[in-house]
Amino acid sequence: MARSVEESSMPAVTSATTVPLWINGARTASRSTRRGDVTNPATGQVVRVVPFANREDVDLAVKAAVAAYPGWRSTPALRRARILTRFRELMEQHQKQLALIISEEHGKVFLDAMGSVQRGIEVVEFAAGAPHLLKGEHAGSVGRGVDAHSRLQPLGVCAGITPFNFPAMVPLWMFPIALACGNTFVLKPSEKDPSASVRMAELLKEAGLPDGVFNVVHGDKEAVDAILHHPDVKAVSFVGSTPIARYIYSTAAASGKRVQALGGAKNHAVVLPDADLEFTADALIGAGYGSAGERCMAISAVVAVGGAGDALVAKLAEKARALKTGCGTAEGMDMGPLITRAHRDKVSSYVDAGVHSGATLVVDGRGLRVAGFEDGFFLGPSLFDHVTPEMTIYKDEIFGPVLVVLRVDTLNEAIELVNRNPYGNGVALFTSSGGAARRFEEEIEVGMVGINVPIPVPMAFFSFGGWKQSLFGDLHMHGLEGIYFNTRTKAVTTRWPNEDAASPGFIMPTLG
Ligand code: NAD
Repeated sequence: MARSVEESSMPAVTSATTVPLWINGARTASRSTRRGDVTNPATGQVVRVVPFANREDVDLAVKAAVAAYPGWRSTPALRRARILTRFRELMEQHQKQLALIISEEHGKVFLDAMGSVQRGIEVVEFAAGAPHLLKGEHAGSVGRGVDAHSRLQPLGVCAGITPFNFPAMVPLWMFPIALACGNTFVLKPSEKDPSASVRMAELLKEAGLPDGVFNVVHGDKEAVDAILHHPDVKAVSFVGSTPIARYIYSTAAASGKRVQALGGAKNHAVVLPDADLEFTADALIGAGYGSAGERCMAISAVVAVGGAGDALVAKLAEKARALKTGCGTAEGMDMGPLITRAHRDKVSSYVDAGVHSGATLVVDGRGLRVAGFEDGFFLGPSLFDHVTPEMTIYKDEIFGPVLVVLRVDTLNEAIELVNRNPYGNGVALFTSSGGAARRFEEEIEVGMVGINVPIPVPMAFFSFGGWKQSLFGDLHMHGLEGIYFNTRTKAVTTRWPNEDAASPGFIMPTLG
């Protein structure tokens, strides 16, 4: 068995065998009798049990958030920001502990987990600057003796529902900005890896966050539906698969809530013949197989243009075969296991389907055994060539270590192929031509674009979100759109009677 990452310094993830809810600033037992297993995907062993919150649990969490709201919204934005700054420091101090929790429950490689926590911390950093962004606008003398200004005010109780693949980072896209804007929050993290959320709740309390401002409930559809139908929840942020995103959007919007629901993806990398081959292949290997392909921004389809295909596939095959798959906390691993046995088997069955549909299987990741981890949910990297758009390995989001290569003749055809795809999360172009890059950026119908950057995840001060079936709603997460999602604008027009002010009349006011 490979050596573990500084095993002696590994903190106890949590002493509890049952993951608690977090309500009103305290670990709280669920009233529900329904439970789920949290499994370490590397060993296949159940490491914790998670309660599936019922309507009563969710109501308790929302009530705590409602009660905390008046105090929190009237706390000056600067004081709220200072608590977030302290939280950021605590997150940095506990980054390794959080990464170990994530690696244990999700399976991803420790350093990758560290990186994902870092990207989340950057959102906290951004949120701590919110006082500047909450200033609103002002215009003097919009009419004679009349001034106007706008205020960005919080919404009330906001909720977040998050996927398994980034147990800290995706919640961190949501709650720091919601809190910075003066909202209170109820988080429903993935039931597959719920512990990181509870740890972050503890760190928020340690940072000085008043009780009730941030709450965590666990569970499945029952808990989610209780959130979607709760009259006191004003806004819902969701990240997960497209069918659930569509459901969340339509259900929450129908009950009058503000919603942003980010869905699944099929991210393309278009490779032109003038791209630097070695650089491109390295980038694609990381983007296709990193986190075992369980990233919403993973590259899963490579579109080789013109003569780029043969040499590129040869390089990708060589590099994919060299990847090391094993336990995420073992040193030197490139890929960990998949999240569950069922998901591993599903991804493996996509490889079967690809072979049956006539694609060329260049590297076969099926049947991988990792010594010492025989019960883990491992699958090695698979690479397909000569894939066509009607094959399910191209059409479906596989969410595993399967990279497919399609071939087209021109950049035009590549752009059309990407634009026909129902998803529009991320895309990358590899080229040394500025003209081609400029055209691609202009014409591609995708929310996040990388030019020679394989996973173009925007920094916290830009907004994250896709187009088409990768997003239901209008506003992306974090950045300025995060501020707008978490606030309501109030426009105030002011006149103080004096000799300059025009007198109010009976006709449609023009203020002049
Ligand atoms: P999922 O849709 O199965 O689950 C997401 C959340 O919804 C979880 O909290 C889950 O408990 C809840 N949920 C599941 N089924 C539900 C139901 N029937 N009714 C109500 N709630 C339900 O997604 P997942 O498997 O956890 O995560 C992987 C998916 O998330 C992939 O499709 C991936 O592309 C997507 N994702 C997208 C982004 C993005 O930014 N667009 C980021 C990360 C992950």
